[in-house]
Amino acid sequence: MTYQTNESLWEPEHQIFRQTVRDFIAREVDPNVDAWVEQYEVPRSFYRKAAEAGILGVDIPEEYGGPGGDFLHRLVIAEEIGYSVSGASMSTSLIADGTSEILYRSANEEQRRRFLPGMIAGEYLFGLAITEPDSGSDVSGLRTTAVRDGDEYVITGSKTYITQANTADAFMVAARTGPDAGSKGLSMIIVEADRPGFNRGRLLHKMGTKASNTGEISFDEVRVPVANLLGEEGKGMRIALGGVNMDRITWPLVAHAASQRAFDETVEFVKNRKGFGQTIFDFQNTQFKLAEMKTELAVGRAFLDDIIRDYKANGTLDTMKCAMAKIWLPEMEARVIDQCVQLHGGAGYMDEYPVSRLYTAARLHRIFAGTTEIMKLLIGRSL
Ligand SMILES: Cc1cc2nc3c(=O)[nH]c(=O)nc-3n(C[C@H](O)[C@H](O)[C@H](O)COP(=O)(O)OP(=O)(O)OC[C@H]3O[C@@H](n4cnc5c(N)ncnc54)[C@H](O)[C@@H]3O)c2cc1C
Repeated sequence: MTYQTNESLWEPEHQIFRQTVRDFIAREVDPNVDAWVEQYEVPRSFYRKAAEAGILGVDIPEEYGGPGGDFLHRLVIAEEIGYSVSGASMSTSLIADGTSEILYRSANEEQRRRFLPGMIAGEYLFGLAITEPDSGSDVSGLRTTAVRDGDEYVITGSKTYITQANTADAFMVAARTGPDAGSKGLSMIIVEADRPGFNRGRLLHKMGTKASNTGEISFDEVRVPVANLLGEEGKGMRIALGGVNMDRITWPLVAHAASQRAFDETVEFVKNRKGFGQTIFDFQNTQFKLAEMKTELAVGRAFLDDIIRDYKANGTLDTMKCAMAKIWLPEMEARVIDQCVQLHGGAGYMDEYPVSRLYTAARLHRIFAGTTEIMKLLIGRSL
Protein backbone atom coordinates (compact mmCIF):
# COMPACT_ATOMS: atom_id res chain seq x y z
CA MET A 1 0.00 0.00 0.00
CA THR A 2 1.32 3.47 -0.79
CA TYR A 3 -0.04 6.95 -0.18
CA GLN A 4 -1.61 8.31 -3.37
CA THR A 5 -0.58 11.93 -3.31
CA ASN A 6 -1.42 14.63 -5.79
CA GLU A 7 1.54 14.37 -8.21
CA SER A 8 1.04 17.87 -9.61
CA LEU A 9 1.89 19.43 -6.22
CA TRP A 10 5.43 18.14 -6.04
CA GLU A 11 8.63 18.68 -7.96
CA PRO A 12 10.56 15.59 -9.13
CA GLU A 13 13.06 16.11 -6.27
CA HIS A 14 10.23 15.76 -3.71
CA GLN A 15 9.00 12.56 -5.31
CA ILE A 16 12.52 11.10 -5.27
CA PHE A 17 12.77 12.11 -1.62
CA ARG A 18 9.38 10.47 -0.96
CA GLN A 19 10.83 7.16 -2.12
CA THR A 20 13.84 7.71 0.17
CA VAL A 21 11.49 8.21 3.13
CA ARG A 22 9.42 5.15 2.19
CA ASP A 23 12.55 3.00 1.91
CA PHE A 24 13.85 4.34 5.22
CA ILE A 25 10.58 3.54 7.01
CA ALA A 26 10.47 0.03 5.50
CA ARG A 27 14.12 -0.64 6.33
CA GLU A 28 14.69 1.07 9.68
CA VAL A 29 11.31 1.68 11.29
CA ASP A 30 8.87 -1.13 10.42
CA PRO A 31 11.07 -4.00 11.67
CA ASN A 32 11.92 -2.23 14.95
CA VAL A 33 8.86 -0.29 15.98
CA ASP A 34 7.37 -2.99 18.24
CA ALA A 35 10.59 -3.09 20.29
CA TRP A 36 10.55 0.72 20.53
CA VAL A 37 6.95 0.62 21.78
CA GLU A 38 8.11 -1.67 24.59
CA GLN A 39 10.98 0.71 25.41
CA TYR A 40 8.76 3.79 25.15
CA GLU A 41 11.27 5.54 22.92
CA VAL A 42 13.28 5.28 19.74
CA PRO A 43 17.02 4.66 20.21
CA ARG A 44 19.71 7.22 19.38
CA SER A 45 20.81 5.05 16.48
CA PHE A 46 17.46 5.81 14.80
CA TYR A 47 18.34 9.51 14.57
CA ARG A 48 21.81 8.79 13.27
CA LYS A 49 20.35 6.54 10.57
CA ALA A 50 17.69 9.14 9.72
CA ALA A 51 20.51 11.67 9.39
CA GLU A 52 22.46 9.39 7.06
CA ALA A 53 19.33 9.03 4.91
CA GLY A 54 19.06 12.85 4.72
CA ILE A 55 15.76 12.96 6.61
CA LEU A 56 16.75 15.14 9.59
CA GLY A 57 16.76 18.93 9.32
CA VAL A 58 15.81 18.43 5.71
CA ASP A 59 15.21 22.11 4.95
CA ILE A 60 18.29 23.42 6.77
CA PRO A 61 20.97 24.88 4.45
CA GLU A 62 24.07 22.85 3.73
CA GLU A 63 26.40 25.32 5.48
CA TYR A 64 24.89 24.18 8.81
CA GLY A 65 25.07 20.50 7.90
CA GLY A 66 21.57 20.26 6.40
CA PRO A 67 20.67 18.40 3.22
CA GLY A 68 19.53 21.74 1.75
CA GLY A 69 15.97 20.75 0.89
CA ASP A 70 12.91 22.94 1.42
CA PHE A 71 9.83 23.02 3.60
CA LEU A 72 7.93 20.79 1.16
CA HIS A 73 10.38 18.00 1.97
CA ARG A 74 9.15 18.20 5.56
CA LEU A 75 5.59 17.81 4.32
CA VAL A 76 6.57 14.71 2.36
CA ILE A 77 7.95 13.19 5.59
CA ALA A 78 4.65 13.99 7.35
CA GLU A 79 2.62 12.25 4.64
CA GLU A 80 4.80 9.17 4.55
CA ILE A 81 5.12 8.73 8.31
CA GLY A 82 1.38 9.37 8.62
CA TYR A 83 0.54 6.65 6.10
CA SER A 84 2.90 4.09 7.62
CA VAL A 85 1.38 2.01 10.38
CA SER A 86 4.64 2.39 12.32
CA GLY A 87 4.04 6.12 12.26
CA ALA A 88 1.03 5.58 14.50
CA SER A 89 3.52 4.56 17.20
CA MET A 90 6.42 6.88 16.52
CA SER A 91 5.41 9.86 14.35
CA THR A 92 6.03 12.24 17.27
CA SER A 93 9.63 11.02 17.55
CA LEU A 94 10.37 11.88 13.93
CA ILE A 95 8.36 15.06 13.60
CA ALA A 96 10.03 16.36 16.78
CA ASP A 97 12.82 17.19 14.33
CA GLY A 98 10.72 20.32 13.63
CA THR A 99 12.83 21.84 16.43
CA SER A 100 15.68 22.18 13.89
CA GLU A 101 13.46 24.43 11.75
CA ILE A 102 12.47 26.53 14.78
CA LEU A 103 16.10 26.83 15.84
CA TYR A 104 17.29 27.76 12.35
CA ARG A 105 14.59 30.41 11.99
CA SER A 106 15.11 32.04 15.39
CA ALA A 107 18.80 31.50 16.25
CA ASN A 108 21.68 33.90 15.64
CA GLU A 109 24.72 32.83 13.64
CA GLU A 110 26.69 31.63 16.68
CA GLN A 111 23.75 29.55 17.95
CA ARG A 112 23.14 28.02 14.52
CA ARG A 113 26.77 26.93 14.27
CA ARG A 114 26.77 25.66 17.86
CA PHE A 115 23.66 23.48 17.64
CA LEU A 116 22.47 22.73 14.11
CA PRO A 117 25.26 20.44 12.84
CA GLY A 118 24.82 18.11 15.85
CA MET A 119 21.03 18.10 15.48
CA ILE A 120 21.15 17.34 11.79
CA ALA A 121 23.70 14.56 12.33
CA GLY A 122 21.26 12.94 14.78
CA GLU A 123 23.80 13.34 17.60
CA TYR A 124 22.12 16.13 19.56
CA LEU A 125 18.39 16.04 20.28
CA PHE A 126 16.25 19.04 21.12
CA GLY A 127 12.87 19.26 22.82
CA LEU A 128 10.42 22.15 22.84
CA ALA A 129 9.23 22.94 26.37
CA ILE A 130 6.21 25.21 26.63
CA THR A 131 3.43 23.34 28.47
CA GLU A 132 3.37 23.44 32.28
CA PRO A 133 1.40 21.51 34.87
CA ASP A 134 -0.94 24.48 35.41
CA SER A 135 -0.98 25.96 31.94
CA GLY A 136 -1.14 24.54 28.43
CA SER A 137 -3.41 26.25 25.92
CA ASP A 138 -3.30 29.45 27.96
CA VAL A 139 0.33 30.51 27.55
CA SER A 140 -0.34 33.71 29.47
CA GLY A 141 -0.45 31.51 32.57
CA LEU A 142 3.07 30.07 32.15
CA ARG A 143 5.07 30.46 35.37
CA THR A 144 8.62 29.32 34.59
CA THR A 145 10.91 32.30 35.17
CA ALA A 146 14.29 33.30 33.77
CA VAL A 147 15.82 36.02 35.95
CA ARG A 148 18.79 37.91 34.57
CA ASP A 149 21.90 37.81 36.79
CA GLY A 150 24.88 39.43 35.04
CA ASP A 151 25.63 37.43 31.92
CA GLU A 152 23.33 34.59 32.92
CA TYR A 153 19.67 33.70 33.27
CA VAL A 154 18.59 31.76 36.33
CA ILE A 155 15.71 29.49 35.33
CA THR A 156 13.16 28.06 37.74
CA GLY A 157 9.98 26.13 36.97
CA SER A 158 8.61 22.91 35.55
CA LYS A 159 7.22 21.63 32.27
CA THR A 160 5.07 18.65 31.44
CA TYR A 161 3.93 16.54 28.45
CA ILE A 162 7.26 17.28 26.79
CA THR A 163 8.20 15.15 23.79
CA GLN A 164 11.76 13.80 24.18
CA ALA A 165 11.75 14.78 27.90
CA ASN A 166 13.70 11.67 28.72
CA THR A 167 16.22 11.81 25.90
CA ALA A 168 16.78 15.34 24.59
CA ASP A 169 20.20 16.92 25.11
CA ALA A 170 18.71 20.42 25.25
CA PHE A 171 15.35 22.16 25.30
CA MET A 172 13.97 25.38 23.92
CA VAL A 173 12.20 26.60 27.03
CA ALA A 174 9.44 29.21 27.20
CA ALA A 175 10.21 31.27 30.31
CA ARG A 176 9.08 34.57 31.75
CA THR A 177 11.88 37.17 31.51
CA GLY A 178 9.89 40.32 32.08
CA PRO A 179 7.24 41.66 34.37
CA ASP A 180 4.74 41.85 31.49
CA ALA A 181 1.74 39.69 32.01
CA GLY A 182 0.49 37.41 29.26
CA SER A 183 2.61 36.17 26.43
CA LYS A 184 4.57 39.44 26.03
CA GLY A 185 6.84 38.65 28.99
CA LEU A 186 7.87 35.27 27.58
CA SER A 187 11.21 34.47 26.01
CA MET A 188 12.60 31.32 24.44
CA ILE A 189 15.86 30.15 26.02
CA ILE A 190 18.01 27.11 25.25
CA VAL A 191 18.70 24.97 28.31
CA GLU A 192 21.18 22.13 27.97
CA ALA A 193 20.24 19.05 29.96
CA ASP A 194 23.67 18.70 31.59
CA ARG A 195 23.43 21.99 33.47
CA PRO A 196 23.24 21.75 37.29
CA GLY A 197 19.66 22.06 38.51
CA PHE A 198 18.09 20.53 35.39
CA ASN A 199 16.01 17.47 36.25
CA ARG A 200 14.04 14.92 34.29
CA GLY A 201 10.82 13.87 36.00
CA ARG A 202 8.34 11.06 35.37
CA LEU A 203 8.02 9.33 32.03
CA LEU A 204 4.30 9.54 31.24
CA HIS A 205 2.41 6.50 29.96
CA LYS A 206 0.13 7.27 27.00
CA MET A 207 -2.75 5.64 25.16
CA GLY A 208 -0.88 5.74 21.82
CA THR A 209 2.29 6.96 20.05
CA LYS A 210 4.20 4.79 22.47
CA ALA A 211 7.49 4.70 20.57
CA SER A 212 8.18 8.21 21.76
CA ASN A 213 8.86 9.43 25.26
CA THR A 214 6.75 12.16 26.77
CA GLY A 215 7.40 13.42 30.25
CA GLU A 216 8.25 16.06 32.78
CA ILE A 217 11.30 18.27 33.21
CA SER A 218 12.10 20.87 35.84
CA PHE A 219 14.58 23.66 36.46
CA ASP A 220 15.91 24.37 39.93
CA GLU A 221 17.79 27.67 39.52
CA VAL A 222 19.48 26.46 36.34
CA ARG A 223 22.08 28.97 35.14
CA VAL A 224 22.48 29.44 31.39
CA PRO A 225 24.48 32.15 29.58
CA VAL A 226 22.53 35.03 28.06
CA ALA A 227 23.98 33.76 24.76
CA ASN A 228 21.36 31.00 25.00
CA LEU A 229 18.48 33.44 24.46
CA LEU A 230 16.79 32.82 21.11
CA GLY A 231 15.83 36.04 19.34
CA GLU A 232 14.86 38.93 21.59
CA GLU A 233 13.55 39.01 25.14
CA GLY A 234 9.76 39.03 25.21
CA LYS A 235 9.47 37.55 21.71
CA GLY A 236 9.42 33.91 22.80
CA MET A 237 5.84 33.27 21.82
CA ARG A 238 6.43 34.62 18.33
CA ILE A 239 9.20 32.01 17.96
CA ALA A 240 7.00 29.24 19.33
CA LEU A 241 4.08 30.27 17.16
CA GLY A 242 6.25 30.12 14.03
CA GLY A 243 6.87 26.47 14.85
CA VAL A 244 3.24 25.97 15.74
CA ASN A 245 2.14 27.23 12.32
CA MET A 246 4.40 24.61 10.76
CA ASP A 247 2.82 21.98 13.05
CA ARG A 248 -0.63 23.09 11.93
CA ILE A 249 0.00 21.92 8.41
CA THR A 250 2.24 18.97 9.34
CA TRP A 251 -0.23 17.30 11.71
CA PRO A 252 -3.25 17.74 9.42
CA LEU A 253 -1.18 16.01 6.73
CA VAL A 254 -0.35 13.19 9.14
CA ALA A 255 -4.07 13.01 10.02
CA HIS A 256 -5.06 12.74 6.37
CA ALA A 257 -2.45 10.13 5.52
CA ALA A 258 -3.32 8.05 8.60
CA SER A 259 -7.04 8.18 7.72
CA GLN A 260 -6.21 7.13 4.17
CA ARG A 261 -4.20 4.20 5.52
CA ALA A 262 -7.06 3.14 7.80
CA PHE A 263 -9.45 3.40 4.85
CA ASP A 264 -7.20 1.33 2.54
CA GLU A 265 -6.71 -1.31 5.23
CA THR A 266 -10.46 -1.43 5.80
CA VAL A 267 -11.37 -1.89 2.13
CA GLU A 268 -8.99 -4.85 2.00
CA PHE A 269 -10.29 -6.28 5.28
CA VAL A 270 -14.01 -6.12 4.44
CA LYS A 271 -13.47 -7.68 1.02
CA ASN A 272 -11.94 -10.73 2.70
CA ARG A 273 -14.07 -11.05 5.83
CA LYS A 274 -17.24 -13.10 5.40
CA GLY A 275 -20.55 -13.13 7.27
CA PHE A 276 -24.13 -14.11 6.48
CA GLY A 277 -23.04 -15.83 3.26
CA GLN A 278 -21.30 -12.84 1.71
CA THR A 279 -18.37 -10.58 2.37
CA ILE A 280 -18.72 -7.66 4.79
CA PHE A 281 -18.01 -5.45 1.76
CA ASP A 282 -21.19 -6.73 0.06
CA PHE A 283 -23.46 -5.15 2.70
CA GLN A 284 -24.84 -1.89 1.42
CA ASN A 285 -24.12 -0.34 4.85
CA THR A 286 -20.41 -1.07 4.36
CA GLN A 287 -20.31 0.43 0.88
CA PHE A 288 -22.22 3.53 2.04
CA LYS A 289 -19.79 4.02 4.93
CA LEU A 290 -16.80 3.57 2.63
CA ALA A 291 -18.30 6.01 0.12
CA GLU A 292 -18.76 8.61 2.88
CA MET A 293 -15.17 8.14 4.01
CA LYS A 294 -13.77 8.36 0.50
CA THR A 295 -15.65 11.63 0.05
CA GLU A 296 -14.32 13.07 3.31
CA LEU A 297 -10.78 12.05 2.36
CA ALA A 298 -11.10 13.78 -1.02
CA VAL A 299 -12.50 16.98 0.55
CA GLY A 300 -9.73 17.04 3.16
CA ARG A 301 -7.04 16.46 0.58
CA ALA A 302 -8.34 19.28 -1.62
CA PHE A 303 -8.04 21.69 1.31
CA LEU A 304 -4.51 20.54 2.15
CA ASP A 305 -3.51 20.90 -1.49
CA ASP A 306 -4.90 24.43 -1.48
CA ILE A 307 -2.73 25.36 1.54
CA ILE A 308 0.35 23.80 -0.06
CA ARG A 309 -0.30 25.64 -3.35
CA ASP A 310 -0.63 28.91 -1.40
CA TYR A 311 2.67 28.18 0.29
CA LYS A 312 4.35 27.48 -3.03
CA ALA A 313 3.00 30.73 -4.46
CA ASN A 314 3.71 33.02 -1.48
CA GLY A 315 6.46 31.30 0.53
CA THR A 316 4.40 31.57 3.72
CA LEU A 317 1.73 29.54 5.41
CA ASP A 318 -1.72 31.07 5.68
CA THR A 319 -2.29 31.13 9.46
CA MET A 320 -6.07 30.98 9.29
CA LYS A 321 -6.15 28.17 6.76
CA CYS A 322 -3.65 26.21 8.86
CA ALA A 323 -5.88 26.72 11.91
CA MET A 324 -8.88 25.48 9.90
CA ALA A 325 -6.89 22.47 8.70
CA LYS A 326 -5.84 21.76 12.30
CA ILE A 327 -9.54 21.63 13.20
CA TRP A 328 -10.96 19.80 10.24
CA LEU A 329 -8.41 17.14 9.34
CA PRO A 330 -7.95 15.62 12.82
CA GLU A 331 -11.75 15.77 13.34
CA MET A 332 -12.24 14.02 9.97
CA GLU A 333 -9.57 11.52 10.99
CA ALA A 334 -11.50 10.75 14.17
CA ARG A 335 -14.72 10.06 12.21
CA VAL A 336 -13.00 7.97 9.56
CA ILE A 337 -10.80 5.83 11.79
CA ASP A 338 -13.61 5.22 14.27
CA GLN A 339 -15.72 3.90 11.40
CA CYS A 340 -12.81 1.78 10.14
CA VAL A 341 -12.48 0.16 13.57
CA GLN A 342 -16.23 -0.55 13.53
CA LEU A 343 -16.04 -2.23 10.11
CA HIS A 344 -13.23 -4.46 11.41
CA GLY A 345 -15.39 -5.70 14.32
CA GLY A 346 -13.32 -7.23 17.15
CA ALA A 347 -10.21 -7.27 14.98
CA GLY A 348 -10.31 -3.48 15.00
CA TYR A 349 -9.68 -3.50 18.74
CA MET A 350 -6.60 -5.71 18.43
CA ASP A 351 -3.21 -4.06 18.16
CA GLU A 352 -2.10 -6.54 15.53
CA TYR A 353 -4.48 -4.81 13.12
CA PRO A 354 -3.25 -1.41 11.92
CA VAL A 355 -6.57 0.38 12.54
CA SER A 356 -6.29 -0.22 16.28
CA ARG A 357 -2.97 1.66 16.48
CA LEU A 358 -4.10 4.34 14.07
CA TYR A 359 -7.13 4.94 16.30
CA THR A 360 -5.19 5.68 19.49
CA ALA A 361 -2.61 7.79 17.63
CA ALA A 362 -5.38 9.82 16.02
CA ARG A 363 -6.75 10.88 19.40
CA LEU A 364 -3.64 12.95 19.95
CA HIS A 365 -4.06 15.00 16.80
CA ARG A 366 -7.05 16.96 18.12
CA ILE A 367 -5.15 17.85 21.29
CA PHE A 368 -1.61 18.95 20.67
CA ALA A 369 -0.14 21.65 18.44
CA GLY A 370 -3.19 23.67 19.53
CA THR A 371 -6.44 21.95 20.45
CA THR A 372 -9.50 22.07 18.19
CA GLU A 373 -11.09 24.58 20.58
CA ILE A 374 -8.06 26.90 20.55
CA MET A 375 -8.09 26.85 16.74
CA LYS A 376 -11.75 27.89 16.85
CA LEU A 377 -10.85 30.68 19.26
CA LEU A 378 -8.17 31.96 16.85
CA ILE A 379 -10.49 31.89 13.88
CA GLY A 380 -13.33 33.46 15.88
CA ARG A 381 -11.08 36.33 17.00
CA SER A 382 -10.10 37.06 13.40
CA LEU A 383 -13.69 37.61 12.28
C1 LIG B 1 1.71 13.24 23.38
C2 LIG B 1 1.85 14.70 23.69
C3 LIG B 1 3.04 15.34 23.37
C4 LIG B 1 3.21 16.70 23.69
N1 LIG B 1 4.41 17.29 23.42
C5 LIG B 1 4.62 18.57 23.84
C6 LIG B 1 5.92 19.19 23.72
O1 LIG B 1 6.86 18.61 23.17
N2 LIG B 1 6.10 20.44 24.21
C7 LIG B 1 5.09 21.13 24.82
O2 LIG B 1 5.33 22.26 25.25
N3 LIG B 1 3.85 20.58 24.97
C8 LIG B 1 3.61 19.32 24.50
N4 LIG B 1 2.36 18.74 24.66
C9 LIG B 1 1.32 19.49 25.36
C10 LIG B 1 0.22 19.97 24.43
O3 LIG B 1 0.69 20.99 23.61
C11 LIG B 1 -0.95 20.41 25.34
O4 LIG B 1 -1.46 19.24 25.95
C12 LIG B 1 -2.03 21.13 24.58
O5 LIG B 1 -1.56 22.39 24.14
C13 LIG B 1 -3.27 21.38 25.46
O6 LIG B 1 -2.92 21.97 26.66
P1 LIG B 1 -3.40 21.32 28.05
O7 LIG B 1 -3.06 19.89 28.03
O8 LIG B 1 -2.85 22.14 29.16
O9 LIG B 1 -4.96 21.43 28.02
P2 LIG B 1 -5.83 22.69 28.56
O10 LIG B 1 -5.27 23.94 27.99
O11 LIG B 1 -5.97 22.58 30.03
O12 LIG B 1 -7.22 22.38 27.88
C14 LIG B 1 -8.18 21.43 28.38
C15 LIG B 1 -9.42 21.52 27.50
O13 LIG B 1 -9.99 22.85 27.59
C16 LIG B 1 -10.09 23.41 26.30
N5 LIG B 1 -9.85 24.85 26.38
C17 LIG B 1 -8.75 25.47 26.89
N6 LIG B 1 -8.87 26.80 26.75
C18 LIG B 1 -10.06 27.02 26.14
C19 LIG B 1 -10.77 28.18 25.69
N7 LIG B 1 -10.25 29.40 25.85
N8 LIG B 1 -11.98 28.04 25.09
C20 LIG B 1 -12.50 26.79 24.92
N9 LIG B 1 -11.89 25.66 25.31
C21 LIG B 1 -10.68 25.77 25.90
C22 LIG B 1 -9.02 22.71 25.48
O14 LIG B 1 -9.30 22.79 24.09
C23 LIG B 1 -9.11 21.30 26.01
O15 LIG B 1 -10.18 20.65 25.39
C24 LIG B 1 2.15 17.40 24.30
C25 LIG B 1 0.95 16.77 24.61
C26 LIG B 1 0.79 15.43 24.30
C27 LIG B 1 -0.51 14.77 24.64
